Amino acid sequence: MAGRERIGMFAFVALLGWVAPSIAQEYPAKPITLMVPYAAGGPTDIVARSLGQAMGKALQQTIIIENTVGAGGTIAPTRLKNSAPDGYTLLLAHIGMSTAPALYRSLAFRPIEDFEHIGQVVDVPMTLIARQTLEPRDLRELVAYIRANRDKLSFANAGVGSASHLCGLLFMSAIDVDLTTVPYKGTAPALNDLLGAQVDLLCDQTTQTTQYIKSGRVKAYGATSASRLDTLKELPTLAEGGLPGFEVVVWHGVYAPKGTPKAVVDKLVAALQAGIQDPAFVQRMSELGGQVVAKDKATPESLRAQLKAEIDRWTPIIRKAGVYAE
Ligand code: ASP
Repeated sequence: MAGRERIGMFAFVALLGWVAPSIAQEYPAKPITLMVPYAAGGPTDIVARSLGQAMGKALQQTIIIENTVGAGGTIAPTRLKNSAPDGYTLLLAHIGMSTAPALYRSLAFRPIEDFEHIGQVVDVPMTLIARQTLEPRDLRELVAYIRANRDKLSFANAGVGSASHLCGLLFMSAIDVDLTTVPYKGTAPALNDLLGAQVDLLCDQTTQTTQYIKSGRVKAYGATSASRLDTLKELPTLAEGGLPGFEVVVWHGVYAPKGTPKAVVDKLVAALQAGIQDPAFVQRMSELGGQVVAKDKATPESLRAQLKAEIDRWTPIIRKAGVYAE
């Protein structure tokens, strides 16, 4: 290597060494974008907006929510993978990160290898709901009604890989009926159509459904939690209603692009831990039936372990159901 080039290389390496800590010290020097894979106003969006405020307080910076919708929620992680690893583009994603690898024949990202994992956030149960005018009064009646009217009923979801899709899949397989499914870009527009009676059934997180169930604008047939929800005490669990073992908990995680500097990741982990302890965040989540995780789960190690365990849990179930998307 010629002398001048060597000096140039040393200067470059020295500059990198000088820039990297200063980026981390200054971070965040401008607003951060937190992507959400589904439509505005829906359950994941509600979690993200609330968390964005709480983490923004800790980081003393604005967190902007961007709804990067489509392909059952797989467009946002793909976009994250291709974003600059500078801590200014992040993703809030849910259980779908662990089901997508089994559901998609060709997925543009690997949930474990392609990201920096910041930590878990909140666990949210789901509810099986229907348009207000659907006749059955409880789950047993509903199952009989579905069996008798299978050609007439439709089941909304947020696309292959969404929580609503997974829940619908489990429900239909449990009662051994295949209904027509109607995909949306999130369960906010799906719920809108349910309210307008354009579709009949939806399984959706309590972060969105709680208020509609309480006000009676939709019919609720059960919760996907192991025990009844404090926020909806009258509502039996699906297991209680006749589907033993039916349980889906929608867990959430925050992700950054692979290669984000460690000092930035550390700041984000600290902000997440502050965020999940923020009283406004905790209260909002619990009003909506969510259970904010303990601090030791809001860590990169815990999110990675959760992803791995959930991929191992859902892959055989999905393979058995034989559902695929391209
Ligand atoms: N939770 C998604 C949403 O926010 C939809 C889903 O996962 O079913 O719209």
